[in-house]
Amino acid sequence: MNKELLKSISLLYVEDEDDIREFTAKTLKSLVKNIVLAVDGEDGLKKMKENPCINIILTDINMPKMNGLEMCEEIRKYNKDIPIVITSAHRDSAFFKQAIEVGVTAYALKPIDLYQLINSLVKAIEPIFLRQKLEKVNGVLEHRIEEAVKEIKSILDAQDNIVFVATADRIMDVNKKFLHFFNVETLEDFINKNKNIYDYFKNEIGFFNIDLVKNNSTWIKYLANIAEVDRIVKMTNEDGINRIFTINIDEYNHKSEHYVISLTDITEIKEKSNLLEYQANHDSLTGLHNRKKFYEIFGKEVRRDARYNNYLSLLMFDIDNFKSFNDDFGHNIGDEVLRIISKIILESIREHDIAVRWGGEEFIILTPETNIKGAKIVAEKIRSTIESFKNDKIKRQITVSCGITGFSNSDSQEDIIERADIALYKAKKLGKNNIVLFEKS
Ligand code: GH3
Ligand code: MG
Ligand code: MG
Repeated sequence: MNKELLKSISLLYVEDEDDIREFTAKTLKSLVKNIVLAVDGEDGLKKMKENPCINIILTDINMPKMNGLEMCEEIRKYNKDIPIVITSAHRDSAFFKQAIEVGVTAYALKPIDLYQLINSLVKAIEPIFLRQKLEKVNGVLEHRIEEAVKEIKSILDAQDNIVFVATADRIMDVNKKFLHFFNVETLEDFINKNKNIYDYFKNEIGFFNIDLVKNNSTWIKYLANIAEVDRIVKMTNEDGINRIFTINIDEYNHKSEHYVISLTDITEIKEKSNLLEYQANHDSLTGLHNRKKFYEIFGKEVRRDARYNNYLSLLMFDIDNFKSFNDDFGHNIGDEVLRIISKIILESIREHDIAVRWGGEEFIILTPETNIKGAKIVAEKIRSTIESFKNDKIKRQITVSCGITGFSNSDSQEDIIERADIALYKAKKLGKNNIVLFEKS
């Protein structure tokens, strides 16, 4: 028997016989924290209301005014849980039935055997203590979980990335950055918009193709399984500015599949890498493709046109007497000429044609799916536009010569360039400002 339990309880003891009440109370006083005495059922009811700290009732049954069971019935109307121990000399079954009905927890027979009484009190109070203990443990656990969740949330909120936790078709949690980017106060606000995250992805070349995942409940899984370079998206922020993100997806298995999705803003890096890529492939003076990029494209084009038996022509231009132009007007004006000619070339060709600064004052144009006659029309357009160009700075007429050749299946890249070079040389020989075709027989 664990008498220790009694030390923390407040007991209401209802007994009408003074000597029994006083004698029993004397012993109980030393065992419990607090004891409240009442002389009959009515008095017990009153004391119970006055002392909300009472957590167990010990009562006699036979009492004037209101008997013990009637009192318990009244108490049960507003307190279903408080343990009740009765002391009684009754042994008849009607009494037991009524006692059970009012929810008596235990009983001790009269005359009172103190040992048995204490035993009954302990038995009655034990479940309450166990429950209190459990509640305490639960409280601690809940508090710990709450703390852990708070900690995770603060980590997520401190992230510079947009982070959200989701199952395949539902967002569970988001961080502050998410709310800020999508311009909402809470996750509920976002959900109420009835939009998916991918509705914000822009459908542009070079970015993740959202048509692959739209209305597909496994879109996160799809994204998780493709290469990082393909997981790049563009979204417009609340200020209407486009930002570029790479999406990272961590999958973890809980009861169902959960994902932690993080969107890293790589706008600046992407812009920088675009710039570096541009610089690596373009000529800085004219903005045309450089020789390195030309070979990259040329190789692909030659293979493609060989496979599909397509036409492919190559035009090679060289400015006439450019050395003396530079000598007479200076290198800066010469540079201006190079830029003007590049502009004229770009304005004269089609989208799929490739314009290249081949060397100092030499240019190449690659025209896919164009035969040599078509190429001549382009060359003539460029030649005549340059011939008639004039402005305040460029006071002397500029002319160009051009050699053209077409691709045939047995050609290597060098063969084509060599023929264009020969044709250009012939055009110079013919007196410059000329176009010469080198048709392979
Ligand atoms: P031709 O009609 O036979 O082609 O004579 P040309 O003087 O044009 O040919 P040449 O090969 O003798 O001279 C090419 C000149 O192009 C030499 C050089 O001053 C000029 N040049 C090459 N690159 C640049 C450049 O980047 N800027 C400027 N301003 N001039 C350049
Ligand atoms: Mg030259
Ligand atoms: Mg020249």
